[in-house]
Amino acid sequence: MQQHSKRILPIQDIDQRWSLFLDRDGVINHEKHKDYVHTWDEFRFMDGVLEAMPVFNRIFNRIVVVTNQKGVGKGLTKLEDLHTIHANMEKEILQAGGRIDSVYYCADLGDDSPYRKPNPGMGLAAIKQYPDIRPEHAIMVGNTLSDMQFGRNLGVYTVFLPTTRPEVSFDDPLIDAVYPSLLSFAQALEAANL
Ligand SMILES: [Mg+2]
Repeated sequence: MQQHSKRILPIQDIDQRWSLFLDRDGVINHEKHKDYVHTWDEFRFMDGVLEAMPVFNRIFNRIVVVTNQKGVGKGLTKLEDLHTIHANMEKEILQAGGRIDSVYYCADLGDDSPYRKPNPGMGLAAIKQYPDIRPEHAIMVGNTLSDMQFGRNLGVYTVFLPTTRPEVSFDDPLIDAVYPSLLSFAQALEAANL
């Protein structure tokens, strides 16, 4: 199942058999500089996300968020606040015409946690919950190489958004495709599937 070299994302073939894994911070919402988003008050959608989500809603079988939230494990973010953030995020996405089927978070501190990305535990949990997610027909979108490694470990395609890590080389073998933003990825999918 593991794939270690670059693949071409077959964007023309993406249809309702396909599923989407999304990272949260730096993909859906702005990252805070060297800090965690602790409350809904601090949560800011990235530009275009609320336009991208309805496109994904039309195309993808399942849409799940997989997010490391070490701030909870460190006691800096309250679990209750994390749940409020996710409930409000899902509500706003729904109101915009989008959908998130489930949000998986990992509060564990240790990199040996099977659930902490780049380990694939959250993805495997999603596949267990939704057996219709096929890794060969799934994509992980993230803004770090850890997200890309998570995608590789899960056996799905990887899409890199250079929103926060300008130093990452697009030639990295962990990255299958690059788009400047979630909206530009959605627009490319829409254009390829008309
Ligand atoms: Mg991120």
